[in-house]
Amino acid sequence: MTEFYFKMSGYIFFPSSQNKIQHWCSFWQAFYGNSFTFAQIIKKSIKMTGNITFTMIKPKAMENGNMGKIIAKIIEGGFKVKALKLTSLTKEQAMEFYAVHKERPFYNGLTDFMSSGPIVAAILEKDNAIKAYRDYIGATNPSDAEEGTIRALYGTSIEANAVHGSDSDENAQIEAGFFFSKREWV
Ligand code: GDP
Repeated sequence: MTEFYFKMSGYIFFPSSQNKIQHWCSFWQAFYGNSFTFAQIIKKSIKMTGNITFTMIKPKAMENGNMGKIIAKIIEGGFKVKALKLTSLTKEQAMEFYAVHKERPFYNGLTDFMSSGPIVAAILEKDNAIKAYRDYIGATNPSDAEEGTIRALYGTSIEANAVHGSDSDENAQIEAGFFFSKREWV
């Protein structure tokens, strides 16, 4: 019955690519059994594409006049800008954004810093975006970051490390949603 449902979904929604869809469904069924609906399979596939990350250019890099250079460097790295805004965080918003770190000793300093001036927020797209971007920006502490990475080039301390980069697909979606409505994505 489930197989019939998968096949019919393929015919109804993708009549011109029914074979592809059937193979695709079989692939997922092999991994996940028959308990997923067609809609759940699509949702899971979208989540696993992992082509979106979220970044901020932090206040010190902005103050040092590096906004344009950092955006150019991001684009040079093959990241496509899907949404972009010049904005700022209140202390409360910074506390909410970094809530995961609230037990850490640097939480208060970090949220003071992140609410101390303008920032740029952006959604970026590239294959395997989370890892690609984290590799591209370098280690959290600019003094440990590989030469040529954004943090090595423009970071001045572990706190003022030039840019933020999401650490998972799930957090990228949450962080993107923190700053942007779907209407603001291209
Ligand atoms: P990231 O994913 O590389 O940004 O690092 P984390 O998620 O661990 O930390 C978030 C941010 O908190 C970092 O980008 C730093 O700006 C800051 N941070 C992390 N560790 C420290 C620390 O030990 N001291 C201070 N002052 N800030 C830190």
